[in-house]
Amino acid sequence: MAKIIVFNNDTNRMETYYRNENEAMPYNTNRSLLVSEFRGSSQSPTLWTTKRTMQSWNSTRYLYGRPIPVGFAFKRPWEGGHSNQSQHYAGVAFDVGQRLSNSERNTLRNLARSSGVWAYVEPASLTPTWVHFDKHK
Ligand SMILES: [Zn+2]
Repeated sequence: MAKIIVFNNDTNRMETYYRNENEAMPYNTNRSLLVSEFRGSSQSPTLWTTKRTMQSWNSTRYLYGRPIPVGFAFKRPWEGGHSNQSQHYAGVAFDVGQRLSNSERNTLRNLARSSGVWAYVEPASLTPTWVHFDKHK
């Protein structure tokens, strides 16, 4: 069971949810993002994100049209990871597509960029074996 704190950008309020690992994240549609996928290997009992981040995920998944394999989204500062991690600490970044082919990753990376729903999409030159996209808070 995870405690999930979601900043609701529409009301400017924090919302608290309690969800099992195999349940969908708050504001996620069609179970395309489970709690266990959002946390990846993070051991944190508390996770946090924003409503806008979840809506951007929903849009990206819809545009891609297929399941997107998620490596992780949330990570605590001491749990390691790649450079440019601060948006992961805030729960507003994703590292996805580790199990996709290069061409599938390029499709997803280009789609994430052109969708306009993310503030930043890391170029393939920096993260060739996964796709990083994030919202700044
Ligand atoms: Zn990342």
